[in-house]
Amino acid sequence: MSKKSILLLPGDGIGPEIMAEARKILEWVASRGGVALHMEEGLIGGIAYDQTGHPLPEETLTQARRVDAVLLGAVGGPKWEPLPYEVRPERGLLGIRKSLDLFCNLRPAKLFPQLVEASTLKREVVEGTDIMVVRELSSGIYFGEPRGVTTLANGEKRGVNTLVYTTREIERIARSAFQVAATRQKKLCSVDKANVLEVTELWREVVTAVGKEFPDVALSHMYVDNAAMQLIRNPRQFDVIVTTNMFGDILSDEASMLTGSIGMLSSASLGEQYALYEPIHGSAPDIAGKGVANPLATILSVAMMFRHTLGLPEMADRIELAVNRVLDRGLRTPDIFQPGTQKVGTVAMGDAVLAALSESLL
Ligand code: NAD
Repeated sequence: MSKKSILLLPGDGIGPEIMAEARKILEWVASRGGVALHMEEGLIGGIAYDQTGHPLPEETLTQARRVDAVLLGAVGGPKWEPLPYEVRPERGLLGIRKSLDLFCNLRPAKLFPQLVEASTLKREVVEGTDIMVVRELSSGIYFGEPRGVTTLANGEKRGVNTLVYTTREIERIARSAFQVAATRQKKLCSVDKANVLEVTELWREVVTAVGKEFPDVALSHMYVDNAAMQLIRNPRQFDVIVTTNMFGDILSDEASMLTGSIGMLSSASLGEQYALYEPIHGSAPDIAGKGVANPLATILSVAMMFRHTLGLPEMADRIELAVNRVLDRGLRTPDIFQPGTQKVGTVAMGDAVLAALSESLL
């Protein structure tokens, strides 16, 4: 079997804490799971700025381009907030997505049945939730030009960001979403704001046209304000959602609460050549250094990596099974804790997944 190479980018805040647990899983796979893995580490975010003066050093991009997949922790934190916009940690994240042309972000929001009580929503609403949010990741308002804040002649300030999509950009994300839907329940809901934004009128038109290539997938359209409401009213109506960069950012965080905690949600950012995996949460400065962060989103991102990029779906199944077993045994980090379960920290949760993985070999 050929050797797979992975770049680990721990980043800031809880990033290094959750990455250490993901690394344990990868090391187990390399030593006992029968997969040849090469791992290297790199810099991104605030720590990269501190060490090199830039949140996305050229060396990190070079590393990312030569490996099979990248695993990222999280970036950002109050320490770097006063920095100029161009060198803030978040620019590192947007920069790597853009440089590697990672246009397709898969964000599964699947409720583990063991966590049904951890959601702030009622059991009868969230039970059975299994949604894949496909978010466009490398264009839209987060990247559009012109952008910035200028001062007008009268001293007033004016801020501008630009929402922009080309036909090609919409076509490729739509195609990816239809392909994902074709492997699931064959239902795709495209979310836009076509009633007021011309860009998303084009979005709707192009998604509809691409849909002709996928006659087996039922396509529907929904305005984003309605989608935000429907997601918590009746999440089971959704199978796959495809939407723009900003709408996807917001809706997938909302969807995370259906599953109990943002600390459970993994993601894949895919391009035509490269792939990056990361939990959907940020660097959680409020809990960084306390050893309580939930590492499961990152560990589940490792599972996605084995499934979508490294061509080892059976290893992905095994990791997901191990996470299920640990939840069955009642272990919970504080974000998913419920009375009657056992509260554990980041390291103990990682160790428990590792132990469950080892059992799966018996
Ligand atoms: P956040 O996702 O970091 O935190 C939101 C809330 O969720 C916090 O209460 C946090 O404690 C909790 N949380 C997040 N991850 C958790 C985990 N694994 N286990 C338990 N609880 C968890 O979002 P924020 O507070 O808005 O942003 C904090 C920083 O992270 C900012 O600098 C922001 O720019 C950055 N950020 C980075 C990314 C990324 O790296 N992908 C994404 C979002 C935000």
